[in-house]
Amino acid sequence: MLLNSCKITRVLPCLADPEKIRVIAEISDEIHEVFPYLNATLKGCIYNHPALTLTIKKEGKLFTLHTNHITLAKIEDEKEAEEILGCLKNLINETYEKRDQIEPSYSKGEELKALDIFKLLPGTNCRKCGEPTCLAFAVRLVGEGIEIRQCIPLFSEEYREKRKVLSELLQAAGFRISE
Ligand code: SF4
Repeated sequence: MLLNSCKITRVLPCLADPEKIRVIAEISDEIHEVFPYLNATLKGCIYNHPALTLTIKKEGKLFTLHTNHITLAKIEDEKEAEEILGCLKNLINETYEKRDQIEPSYSKGEELKALDIFKLLPGTNCRKCGEPTCLAFAVRLVGEGIEIRQCIPLFSEEYREKRKVLSELLQAAGFRISE
């Protein structure tokens, strides 16, 4: 067994959806060894091999596996978080058991969508970045034609948590971030 247990250590408001929660769970064992096998078998993953993170998108929710913790976003409540963590634990262990039969994949996987970025921007369409709307900024950012720093309001205290989540997401997708 690769992963023995997960424990919820933080419950925060979900920044992408104020009616949902974001959960951080500490895990008992390092799990990065299984990431290329999960990346090979699951659809819709974003894998960053150098940073050792794997983001799984499922039914509008985001699960990011790090080597020693897991974050869940857009979650209804703690009960749902516990159920998802149980499923992820089984998935990790079953995939690890079968790794000899799986060709590992180190590809970045599914590309990050502009809409995923847009949901984490201030959403004020203030034009300080030089773009007419936050959505236009997100489209340029995903095409790597603009830097996250150019959204000046995002770097204010008010948007600190959003910036943190967006930075994590961009890094998970293999973007270079200069903060
Ligand atoms: S500076 Fe940021 S908040 Fe303002 S329009 Fe651009 S992306 Fe939106």
